[in-house]
Amino acid sequence: MTCAECGGKLRSKKENYRYLACGLPNVTLTGVEVRRCATCGDHEVVLPHIEKLHEALANAIVRHEARLSSSEVRFLRKYLGYSGVDFANLIGVSPETVSRWENKKESMGSSTERLLRLLVVHKTPIQEYPIEMLTRISQTAQTKPIGLRLTGDGWIEQGLVAA
Ligand SMILES: [Zn+2]
Repeated sequence: MTCAECGGKLRSKKENYRYLACGLPNVTLTGVEVRRCATCGDHEVVLPHIEKLHEALANAIVRHEARLSSSEVRFLRKYLGYSGVDFANLIGVSPETVSRWENKKESMGSSTERLLRLLVVHKTPIQEYPIEMLTRISQTAQTKPIGLRLTGDGWIEQGLVAA
């Protein structure tokens, strides 16, 4: 394997990888293959079953009892496959409102937030999601670390040891 940037040799290693590319600051993938170039420092990460990874991540987010952060709102909206405009039309707000939610200018109301969580749950009906979970959501946003581990053919959430 050679580096796409400089043609140097890539070394492959299993690492705990901070998945910043998903748009969330708090997601760690445990034991994934990362290929690093010793020459230029560039790296690539191997993420099999990426749709299942995003599904596991969305499931983890809707289970958190804290209010959704702006980046979680954006992640879930994209996970559902909607553009900002389509999502705005779907739930009956202006595209500017969606943009304000996702850019931390305004917080999503709690009813709308429940609707977003239910849309996510509905997309992946295999999980168990008692409606009572929606009543336990607190009034404050808190970004909790999320850890995901690759299994045979998918991803599961697992507790993280505090760093
Ligand atoms: Zn390189």
